[in-house]
Order: sequence, then structure tokens, then C-alpha cells
Amino acid sequence: MLKNNLGYPRIGSHRELKKACESYWSGKISQSQLLEVGGQIRRQNWLLQQQSGIDLIPSNDFSFYDQVLDHSLLIGNIPERYDAILSGNAANNQLDQYFAMARGYQKDGLDVKAMEMTKWYDTNYHFIVPEFVKNQTFKLSSSKIFDEFSEALALGISTKPVILGPVSYLLAGKEKEDGFKRLDLLTALLPVYEQIIEKLLALGAQWIQFDEPCLALDLGYHEKDALRIAYGQFSTKFPKLKVLLTTYFDGLRDNLLAASQLPVAALHVDLVRYPQQFTEILGSLKESTAISLGVVDGRNIWKNDYQQSLTFIKEAIAKLGENRVMIAPSCSLLHSPCDLALEKDEECLPAQIKDWMAFAKQKLSEVNDLYEISANGKQELLTANQASIESRRASALIHKPVVKERVAALTEADAQRTSPFVERQKKQKSLLNLPLFPTTTIGSFPQTDDIRQLRARYKKGDLSTEQYETSIEEHIKSAIEWQENIDLDVLVHGEFERNDMVEYFGELLNGYVFTQNGWVQSYGSRCVKPPIIFGDIDRPEAMTVRWSSFAQSLTQKYMKGMLTGPITILQWSFVRDDQPRSTTMLQLSLAIRDEVSDLEKAGIKIIQIDEAAIREGLPLRKADRKAYLDNAVRSFRVASSSVKDETQIHTHMCYSEFNDIIESIAAMDADVITIETSRSQMELLEAFNEFNYPNEIGPGVYDIHSPRVPTTEEMVHLLEKASTVLPVENIWVNPDCGLKTRKWPETEAALKNMVAAAEAVRKNI
Ligand code: GLN
Ligand code: ZN
Repeated sequence: MLKNNLGYPRIGSHRELKKACESYWSGKISQSQLLEVGGQIRRQNWLLQQQSGIDLIPSNDFSFYDQVLDHSLLIGNIPERYDAILSGNAANNQLDQYFAMARGYQKDGLDVKAMEMTKWYDTNYHFIVPEFVKNQTFKLSSSKIFDEFSEALALGISTKPVILGPVSYLLAGKEKEDGFKRLDLLTALLPVYEQIIEKLLALGAQWIQFDEPCLALDLGYHEKDALRIAYGQFSTKFPKLKVLLTTYFDGLRDNLLAASQLPVAALHVDLVRYPQQFTEILGSLKESTAISLGVVDGRNIWKNDYQQSLTFIKEAIAKLGENRVMIAPSCSLLHSPCDLALEKDEECLPAQIKDWMAFAKQKLSEVNDLYEISANGKQELLTANQASIESRRASALIHKPVVKERVAALTEADAQRTSPFVERQKKQKSLLNLPLFPTTTIGSFPQTDDIRQLRARYKKGDLSTEQYETSIEEHIKSAIEWQENIDLDVLVHGEFERNDMVEYFGELLNGYVFTQNGWVQSYGSRCVKPPIIFGDIDRPEAMTVRWSSFAQSLTQKYMKGMLTGPITILQWSFVRDDQPRSTTMLQLSLAIRDEVSDLEKAGIKIIQIDEAAIREGLPLRKADRKAYLDNAVRSFRVASSSVKDETQIHTHMCYSEFNDIIESIAAMDADVITIETSRSQMELLEAFNEFNYPNEIGPGVYDIHSPRVPTTEEMVHLLEKASTVLPVENIWVNPDCGLKTRKWPETEAALKNMVAAAEAVRKNI
């Protein structure tokens, strides 16, 4: 039985790679210093995996930015516009070109944009989207995969190189021209894969891991056929090659036959996400194929339940024999934080709760333990594990009957505003008495160094609560004066007290813990440190009322209360695996619902509940989407429906794709939704128009991702465009998203122009 690992985090347990990359980009360290840090991380990771008893240790899972971009370089898919980076006077080499593709390049008289980036399946990891043209050619163009294999070999470790499979690679990209389909490029692509395989075999590789996560998607005939052609060809040409084909993030489901009949040495499946099909998979494997059991959760931070994993292992051994069984994490550990042992602050993470967890390093030991228990009868490992699992199952820290009962008692009426939107709208219009095209912002104002330092000093204990709160109040005060001066209609307090729109609420809710080093790569050098929901959620006291009512007391204008919604809080946290996500989401809904009620009681008339992440939570398979969306809609409605008709509920979503979820967005029944539209020139309003979306909309009139100040004219133009597809009495005027990443000067200039644009449009009506 081999112990198999699919990939290991490459950021370093102290985010060494992040720091090194950023230093290199800002010219503080040389390229050889950067390469040295990369080399150290790889060495540490390989040795760690070796010491942990892993047999199939991955290589080429390291990356300076993104493994999909690495792959584009490997097979020579480099868009032409990046050729210029290598020529001319600048002393650039391939690594600089690589970073230019990832981040854009504005130097030496060149101005080349970065390639597009998007989310990797349903993770929060972002990859660089490959671009394909009609007459695309491919050519072996990077030695990274070979160098890293040799590097490990020099340490005495014969690794299993990891490579993105040809079908998943093609599907991950985009056609940049008409007249062809990217899958048609397979024929041109396969010879390069063959060259790679040949070279790796010559270097001494035995196993090669081909990642084909596309097997977790709804596939049609052509995709399945492409898999058959590719792996058929590899097996014919390289009879000695051992292919480990991996799929993860969901079950094979109707792709089972397509996967199990491929001529590969081993098939890896994700049994955490989709255990249902296990027996069927065992029964359908070809006789020569082994199975890699993805039993240790690579996407979450909970300790593995050995008892449960052992039932899979036993069943597989009984059916296939030990030689055809591998034990593995469910997917690459890239999506796990590095090392639980670094968490030493009991206040963030109490020892008892920490005992229920495992990060990447600990997950390697879990794979090894499972082997030791099943192959060598080490029962004591099982006993210790079951003690932790039992203590979690029964812990009073987690289970709060009151919370569970409240969720169970929710009725249809709890998820329903008193009156339908048309009636609410009348009441709100007469109460709020706002002009047509009311102006507002999305919530946050620039987070200056001042403010960051203020929060950091308070956290460290250098400031008393009183000192801290007084300073925050000062910031709120000047933000309000400023908003009044430029004559915005609906004001915000600025969110100066918040580090992050999810962590802020997590810290104020029961049922959450936090880590100090639990970083996971999000894109390039960017990492996130999701808070952890470990238990039933409740709200010990009001979370935002203090700030919102203070802000409201300073102005005659309306102040928006500002909350993060249950869907987004859930999506950006590590979540419990001992109850359905939908149950946790409803617990969060109730906490937000109580906050909404308290804000209303405190006299706040407009409350915004941000749901930036509803789209991200969409399941990979179409068949699962309805259930997810129904739960999400219900959660939002539970959170927002306790208020009077007159109280106006806003929501905000910052992405620009609504076509396939517009029905659910409408079902959320927020009185006002603000969305990102400026980069698509309002085009996405089509979806709202076609659907006859009834409620009010604030289509973003300028892009907040860039410091550029939009002109009044261009915003007038966008608003006029919006007026052709939406009823004018339903249109709000606001930027695309919050302004926390901007600086004050450009924010002031942009918002002044925005107010002027609204005034101009009102005059023309
Ligand atoms: N209210 C939040 C802000 O303004 C919304 C952020 C978001 O949509 N990501 O920052
Ligand atoms: Zn946003």
C-alpha cells in the first residue's frame, strides 16, 4: 500500500515565498536570492514528506506564482504580447516574462497587461487563464519540471512529477479567436506531453501524476473522448510509464466509466467530497488499475476520523488487494494551511479545539497513521484518534441546543418580508424621500496606514478601548462631514473598525476560532487566513449598532447599517464538517437577523447586507446548483426579513455575471442591490432587464480597482445607458464596490464627479 501525496503548500509555513516574491518585484532582492528561497522551500517540503513516510512525493507542485501558468510555459503557450519582455534593453529572462504574464509589465517603455485570472474550480485559489488562438502551436519551453525532479533526486528522493493533464488544461483556458474549439488543439498538444514524459522517464521518474480535475465537472462526449485519446496514446507509447490520474473537488458520478476505463496505473478519487460512489468505483476499475483513496480532507482543517477512513481502506483492500490501494489526501494540500504546530496562542485557538484539527503537515502524518493502523496493526494510533473525534462529537463548546432549536423552528414566515416589494417601495419612497438617482457608496472608505496602525495597536494592547474608540469616532466624523460636503444622499460610516468583512464578524460571534499562521494561497503572493467555524453560532451582543448609531447621530441624512451576509461569511471561513453547510448558514442568518433587528431598533432606516460571495459557492455540477441557491436565498431572506416594510434592505455583490443566477438574486428580494457593472459598460444589466427584475438596482458607475478618476461625462453616459433598460425610479448611483483599497485623493475626486453625474442625469429627466 503506497502512501501518496498530491501536492504540498509552497508558500512556506511563514509565508517565506510571499515575502521573497514581493521583495523581488520591488527590486529589494536579486533573482538568485528569490530562486534560493524557492529552492529552500522545495527542499524542506520534500524532506518533510519523506520523514512523514510518504512514498509518492510530488515534485513540480512548487510554483513562484501559479501551477497553471507554469504549465503554459512548459508547453510554450505564451501569448505573443509577452515576447517584448525578453527583447530590448531590459535584462529580462524567462522568470521575468512569467511574472509579466501574471502581473503585467509597465517598465522600459513597455505597457503589457496581465493575463486574466479566475478561480480554480470551487476553491479560493486563482489561476492564470490560458489563452488559445486558432493556429496555436505548442513547444517544450521550460525545464522547471525536469530541474525540480533532478533537484529532489540529488537529495535522494525520487519524486512523482505532477503535471496538469491535457484535457483539464485545455478546458481551463479560453479561445481568443473565433473559428475553433480549444479541445481541437489536443492533437497539437499531445506531442509536447510525449516529449515531457520521455524526458522524465529518462531522468528516472517512475510515476507521473496527471491532474484531470475536469472529471469533477459535467462532461460531454468530446471531453470524454479527448481523455480516452490522450491517455490511450500515452499508454501505447510508454508502456513503462505509471500514470496516476487524479480527480478531486467532487465525485466522478456519470464520468465514472470515462475515468475507470482509461489505461492508467492508478486512479485517485476524492472520497471526502463524494463517498457515495465508492463501491461502484471499486467494481468498475480495470484489473491493472490501482486506486488512490483520497480520504484525508485537503480542503478543510479538521482531524481525520480514522475509523471512517479505515472502512474505505478495508473495503478497497478486500476487493483489490493491498498492492492496488494507496492512501492519500483528497486533493493537493495547497488548499490547507501549513502547520498546526505553529498555533501557540491559546486565546485565538484553545488547546481543546486545536486537538480537533490538522493542517497540511499533520495531514501527512494522518496518511501515515492510516497506513500503520491497517498494515501494521498499530491500534494505539486509532485509539488516540478516536478519543479526539469523540471529544469533538460530544463537546459542549460546539453544541448549543438553543441555537439548534431556533434553526429547527424557522418557518416560511421568518423568510418573508411583511409586504411584497411594490408596497414596500411606496412606503420607503415616502419615508426616505430621496431624489431620483440617489447617490451612495458601498461601505468602506480608504484604509489608510493610520487606521491599520490604530487597529493593530489596539489589538496589541497598546491602546485602551476608550482611546481606540475615540480615534475611530474621529475618522467616522470626518468621513461624514466629507460625505455631506460633496452632497451624497445616503451615507456610510466607512468601516474603519473592520480588518476584513468576514473576520470582523467572526470575532464578534460565538462559534469561531482564529489562527495566527493559517494562511492559504489565494493568488500569486496573496494569501488568506480564513477564520474557523467550529461550533454552533450565536451572537452574544450587538456587533455594529454602536458604530452605526454613533454615525447616524452626527447627520440628518440617512446612514446605512453595514453587515456581511450569511452566505459570504460561510464561504470565506473554514466550516464545520459535522453538519450540512446549509445548517451553519442558517445559524449565521439568525445572528445577522438579530443584528438587523437591533439596527432597526436603534433607528437605522437603511441596512446593507453584503453578499459578495454567493456566486463563488456555486457547486461544480449543475445538478447541485438549485439546492445550493435555494438554501442561499432562504438564508439571506431569514437574515433580512425581520424588519418593517419601511426599513430598506440593500445587498451588494461585486462580480459581473448574473445571467444564470438572476432568478435567485430576484428571490432574495432585497429592496436595493448594488452590483459591479462599470467594466462591462452596463452590459450585464441586460440580464436584469430580460428577467424584468422588479427591485431597485445600483449599477456601479466606476471601477474601484484602479486609481483612475472617472469623468462626470462617462458616468452620465453609463447612467443614461442604464436608464434605457431599467425604470428610472429604480436606479441608484454608486461605485462598483467598497473603496478600502483606494487612496483619499482619488476617492474624493471620483465621488465628486459621481454626484455631479447624478445631478446632470436628474436634470435631463
Ligand atoms: N461593504 C464592503 C466594502 O465596502 C463590501 C466589500 C465587498 O463587496 N467585497 O468594503
Ligand atoms: Zn463589492
